[in-house]
Amino acid sequence: MRFSTKAIRLGQQPDPHNGSIVVPVYQSVNFKFQEVGTIPEFEYSRTGNPTRTAFEQCLASLEEADYGLAFGSGMAAIDALLSILRPGDHVVSSEHIYGGTFRLFEKVYRPRGIEFTYVETTRTEAFAQAMRPNTKIVWIETPANPLLQLVDVRAVAEIAHAGGAVLAADNTFASPYFQRPLTQGADIIAHSTTKFISGHSDVIGGAVVTHNKELYEAVKFYQNNAGAIPGPWDCWLSLRGLKTLAVRMRQHAANAQAVAEFLQDHPQVEETIYPGLPTHPQHDLAKRQMDGFGAVVTFRLKGGLEQVRSFVKPLQIFLFAESLGGVESLVSHPTTMSHAPLTPEERAKSGITDGTIRLSVGIEDIEDLLEDLDRALAH
Ligand SMILES: *Cc1c(COP(=O)(O)O)cnc(C)c1O
Repeated sequence: MRFSTKAIRLGQQPDPHNGSIVVPVYQSVNFKFQEVGTIPEFEYSRTGNPTRTAFEQCLASLEEADYGLAFGSGMAAIDALLSILRPGDHVVSSEHIYGGTFRLFEKVYRPRGIEFTYVETTRTEAFAQAMRPNTKIVWIETPANPLLQLVDVRAVAEIAHAGGAVLAADNTFASPYFQRPLTQGADIIAHSTTKFISGHSDVIGGAVVTHNKELYEAVKFYQNNAGAIPGPWDCWLSLRGLKTLAVRMRQHAANAQAVAEFLQDHPQVEETIYPGLPTHPQHDLAKRQMDGFGAVVTFRLKGGLEQVRSFVKPLQIFLFAESLGGVESLVSHPTTMSHAPLTPEERAKSGITDGTIRLSVGIEDIEDLLEDLDRALAH
């Protein structure tokens, strides 16, 4: 089966009892044992639930993975992945990662005796230089938030493996439709399914997928013990989202490309960042390791906060909100939102200026999106 067919059918056989086409919401805590001494496939819904299993199997297949685990949020998934670490272990991470992941590394795992080294996202050699004998995980997020730097997955996978570490990738921004890091050497993937996978801004969720049985069993063990599972309704919604992932991503990317090209030519815009633009410094790498360039477009408005304020105010279609990956277009301002906890110096170091604006381009009619941006930029 190919991508869209798998998204619609895999793990979703008609219900054996009555032929229901759609996997039901198994809103049940426990499942009946047949007789003494037999263990049923499902016994207790923290350990496993049929609606969750359908979602996990489907998502795993889209990432070319053998195993999937769904979680109550992207952060719960990342935490469960990190549970393979022991005090004294070391992690090499690209420096441009989701803020919540950075906070989890620094405020939760560092005090527990895990060491972290951050390296320049785009410099492959920097990963090699940071490796130590106790490096257990190399962590990457590509494309990164919000400046869309890329990590060369194949090259960094070789470095990780040469050092006896596993390569873990946060694949939230690209989604498996545009990038499947396991096929390029990564060992394990984390997702915030809150974003493109669910796709409709109505459910928080996460997932870990892998083709490595040992890693799967370790993360599954932690999940069953720590219990950060999603409920059956959330799994059902996420599975429904998954069915249209391919068509949504195609439209997201077509709209994002048009928005990027429009912004690039606009006199009020200083710089437009999108991996699909030939001006993106890693456009060739993006073409090599991705099947499409995604939905996030970042640009720098000429001027500062004042100009950002007067740009955001007149927007009618783009909603001023955090997050990304839903069908509706969103605009966010890293300086005052996602990256507000950083000092101005830290922000400057990561390349986030006051005029930096991040768009999550939705799947509305492109003419409406361009008119909205044009009107806002005229203010
Ligand atoms: C949103 C996000 C997360 C965290 O996911 P939640 O579902 O909000 O817990 C992790 N990584 C990336 C890249 C994200 O965009």
